[in-house]
Amino acid sequence: MADCAIYPGSFDPPTLGHLSLVERGLVVFDKIIVAVAVNPHKATLFTVEERIELLKESVSGFPTARVEVDSFQSLTVDYARLRGARAILRGLRATADFEYEFQLAMVNRHLCPDVQSVFMMADYQWFYISSSTVKEAASFGANIDDLVPPAVSKRLRQKLG
Ligand code: ADP
Repeated sequence: MADCAIYPGSFDPPTLGHLSLVERGLVVFDKIIVAVAVNPHKATLFTVEERIELLKESVSGFPTARVEVDSFQSLTVDYARLRGARAILRGLRATADFEYEFQLAMVNRHLCPDVQSVFMMADYQWFYISSSTVKEAASFGANIDDLVPPAVSKRLRQKLG
């Protein structure tokens, strides 16, 4: 069986940090399913459909057989099992990510010991980049072209004026 990982997240919006993780994840996994986690309780700037569309445009440079974009509204481990993935790929930036990711990984392992959480350190270039900082900078009119894929930059400008 080909090794497949799901890469779940909010992706509100996707950044070059996210794409860097996909690119590096493909060194380890045959296939990566980038999956928008639908959380009706979390306020987002972009709708699920918009985030899927932005992700699809953003990953179009990767081989289509190896990167898929999807969404799910269930426990992450249930979605991983449904898709036959043995790994959940997550990125680690500053140490602030660690505590949260550690907790999540422990709960997920408790719920489903067959699925492994795999962490990759963020590339130094994208270490400080998050969807929130990008949105905040863009809302104040900053040029974020070198932080996000072109499609995201365009949509952010449209959304935020
Ligand atoms: P979530 O709400 O699940 O944290 P995000 O879209 O913020 O969703 O992040 C999804 C995953 O991508 C997380 O594992 C996060 O740590 C990782 N990630 C976010 N930004 C970066 C980045 N700049 N470099 C590497 N990984 C990142």
